[in-house]
Amino acid sequence: MNKSIKSVEAVLAPPDTHMVGDGFMVHNFFPTYQIIGERGMSPFFLMDYNAKWIIPPYEHQRGVGPHPHRGFETVTIAYRGSVAHNDSAGNSGVIGEGDVQWMTAGSGVLHKEYHEKEFSRKGGVFQVVQLWLNLPGQFKMTAPKYQAIVNKDMPKHYLEDGVSCVELIAGEYEGKKGPAFTFTPVNVFNARLKKGASADFSFDKNYNSGLLVLEGGVNINENSFAPEDHFVLFRHDGNDFRLEATSNCVVLILSGEPINEPIASRGPFVMNYEAELKQAYDDYRDGKFGYLAD
Ligand code: MN
Repeated sequence: MNKSIKSVEAVLAPPDTHMVGDGFMVHNFFPTYQIIGERGMSPFFLMDYNAKWIIPPYEHQRGVGPHPHRGFETVTIAYRGSVAHNDSAGNSGVIGEGDVQWMTAGSGVLHKEYHEKEFSRKGGVFQVVQLWLNLPGQFKMTAPKYQAIVNKDMPKHYLEDGVSCVELIAGEYEGKKGPAFTFTPVNVFNARLKKGASADFSFDKNYNSGLLVLEGGVNINENSFAPEDHFVLFRHDGNDFRLEATSNCVVLILSGEPINEPIASRGPFVMNYEAELKQAYDDYRDGKFGYLAD
């Protein structure tokens, strides 16, 4: 197969942070960041990145109180620290370091997300990514569900040095498949590369593709450099790119088939049309998302 280079459109520094509740201090790379906001990263609708944050011990568990979601999935990846959640359907769990919670909000849940109890008590470094993965109209009202994906269940493709690897959360890499069920074609990987290691990736050129550097730095296609906490947006000009670690690094890689449908979004809802947004707010007010104590 001929190589066709997927080139870098932009290397983006993290925008200013904002707080989500009192537990998440996030850089929103999209949809609010200008360059990505305009063209979008569909099917990825939103990315909130809580960069490394040293949190002192707290009695109180910091986080965000009960709120609804409808019309999409939240994918929460804990790199440092751990996050607990519970919802109006009685589900609860903890996302530990290296783990992922893939929640299909679908027709609707009411949930809260906060620092895990023991982590809160001890304090420590907190580093988390939350993605909002959009759903096509036909699946927006699907039944809510959770996929708890622990690190040991993620297939790892080891590179030549025997220690660097590409870890699969969703999608396919080198014949391995990520454990997440997805409604549309989506690739979500972590590349954990030792200094000097390189890894090659290939995605359909029409897919929206990007990466976030969580740790260390990487060269991309031998001509761009992305340092820690930066997001790299790719063009649609080819399929293939290469990463080379300039220091030990952790890189989140995203690529997915765009959902070419209208988007109407406000607050915690991502729908196709304004009338569906209004319905979501009405249903929320009418208690149709259930009840969850503060
Ligand atoms: Mn939420």
